[in-house]
Amino acid sequence: TLAVSGLVRRFGDTTALDGVSLALGEGEFVAVLGPSGSGKSTLLRALAGLEGADAGEIRIAGRDMAGIPARERQIGVVFQNYALFRHMTVFENVAFGLRVRPRAARPARAELARQVRELLALVQIPELERRYPDQISGGQRQRVALARALAISPRLLLLDEPFGALDALVRREVRRWLRGLHDRLGLTTLLVTHDQEEAMELADRVAVMERGRLVQFDAPPALLAAPASPFVAGFIGHAT
Ligand code: ATP
Ligand code: MG
Repeated sequence: TLAVSGLVRRFGDTTALDGVSLALGEGEFVAVLGPSGSGKSTLLRALAGLEGADAGEIRIAGRDMAGIPARERQIGVVFQNYALFRHMTVFENVAFGLRVRPRAARPARAELARQVRELLALVQIPELERRYPDQISGGQRQRVALARALAISPRLLLLDEPFGALDALVRREVRRWLRGLHDRLGLTTLLVTHDQEEAMELADRVAVMERGRLVQFDAPPALLAAPASPFVAGFIGHAT
């Protein structure tokens, strides 16, 4: 589904991505794990088409993404500091996702409303459609952002620290729920986190990043059994 090779992104003398290569299978749930500043968000932004690359290649379903603008990539994104549109209700935020779908005919009003309600039911907040973002909780906002990302029928779902705003208990619960949703919808998901426990519990495979490099990409048991370096061993050995 997704194949990245030799991706490089520099900002001045910082090399945020230093030759990252990875491939994701259809239906896979992959966690990108790494300390602050290791390039996780930059990787996601580059995949989404919101950040250029200085070298390397991104292919989705075999197609080179160079020069393909973000909204044509059919990638659903929930950002670390994502913003819902504050002047729009929950309903309107999700409807926006439906309206910007590439190559999809604009649904008629009644059909649009039906689809918005279906998405809000999917993320389990059907009762909030008339509220504005500042009238709902952080976790509920995350669900709205997820519904908006799912609205485009993404080929790839990118999530950057989607549980950052949640307390530990709710986080655990939402994490399981998200994994269930991924499985049910047959999504291909790349989730960024700096929480090793979250990555290990949730993902089929974990990509560990260190200073712009992908230092290991393995299933959780393999990662625990044979960490590629002392850095990886240390990082997955400690809750952060
Ligand atoms: P965190 O866990 O704190 O979110 P991260 O792994 O997501 O960290 P990135 O945001 O990808 O890290 O940043 C990687 C490096 O690139 C950092 O050193 C950061 O300062 C730098 N960087 C990222 N975006 C920019 C930018 N727009 N301009 C300059 N430097 C940037
Ligand atoms: Mg980040």
